[in-house]
Amino acid sequence: MAKLACNEAGYFAANEALQIMGGMGFSEEITVQYCQRRTRGWMIAGGSVEILKTKIAEGVFRRRFSQRPADSPD
Ligand SMILES: Cc1cc2nc3c(=O)[nH]c(=O)nc-3n(C[C@H](O)[C@H](O)[C@H](O)COP(=O)(O)OP(=O)(O)OC[C@H]3O[C@@H](n4cnc5c(N)ncnc54)[C@H](O)[C@@H]3O)c2cc1C
Repeated sequence: MAKLACNEAGYFAANEALQIMGGMGFSEEITVQYCQRRTRGWMIAGGSVEILKTKIAEGVFRRRFSQRPADSPD
């Protein structure tokens, strides 16, 4: 839950900072674009936000959920 909250809050903050700075925020000359890219990567690495939400739901409902699409053969 902590990783999910930090991933979403970190990316939100970095993305907002980039937007506020406009075109300069997108420039590689300043740190904001680096923060935006880094925080975005951590929404995938080490447990993506989708998988974390599934894991949290399993804890809340005390049951396992299939990680496969509904129309999967098994
Ligand atoms: C910045 C960065 C650093 C990394 N560092 C490392 C590292 O040091 N060591 C290492 O081993 N790997 C590392 N990785 C790889 C990382 O662990 C994988 O990218 C991650 O596990 C996701 O696997 P995947 O890329 O194959 O995406 P997939 O598993 O193919 O997923 C693609 C998308 O589908 C979603 N998805 C998949 N399954 C489900 C499901 N059942 N329900 C809902 N959504 C689903 C995912 O959330 C994701 O958005 C890194 C990745 C990044 C971006």
